[in-house]
Amino acid sequence: MDAVQRHRSMYKGTTPPWKETYRKVYTAQPEFDELSAFEEIQQELIAQELLILEEYNNSMRYEEQYIDSVLEGMEASGQIICPVCHANNLTVNSHFTSCPCGLYVNTIGRNVTPEVLQNLLEQRVTEHMEDCLHNPTFSMAFNTDGSPNLMISCKVCDYLSVVL
Ligand SMILES: [Zn+2]
Ligand SMILES: [Zn+2]
Repeated sequence: MDAVQRHRSMYKGTTPPWKETYRKVYTAQPEFDELSAFEEIQQELIAQELLILEEYNNSMRYEEQYIDSVLEGMEASGQIICPVCHANNLTVNSHFTSCPCGLYVNTIGRNVTPEVLQNLLEQRVTEHMEDCLHNPTFSMAFNTDGSPNLMISCKVCDYLSVVL
């Protein structure tokens, strides 16, 4: 079959090729709709995921900034930003260390000053950093004797230590 014959036979059928093509496109239409709906949902999901990821990254950056500030040392004002809420300055006196967010550690007789606390924070952060690149988090936990402690922990490497 040469090219001319082939060309002729293509147009010999009862159904003109354009009709065939039209039917194909037409019947395929619902699939296209489903596909675009599916794509739309997927794009929405991706957008949501990106948003969650962005929030996660922001919180990670937040942690990182705090860790950086711990390592940079105390602010000139001698204030220590609360490691739990990152929003308030800690109150450090001869009796306790506290923050309006709920952080409270009894330090009677332990001679805790802002300098001492800063050193403790720095030590723990540095200690964790030797084995793990992730940012540790700080939280309050109760000791076996029921007294609250400030803990540093990392979910990635299972690091857990008492800061104060
Ligand atoms: Zn706080
Ligand atoms: Zn870690």
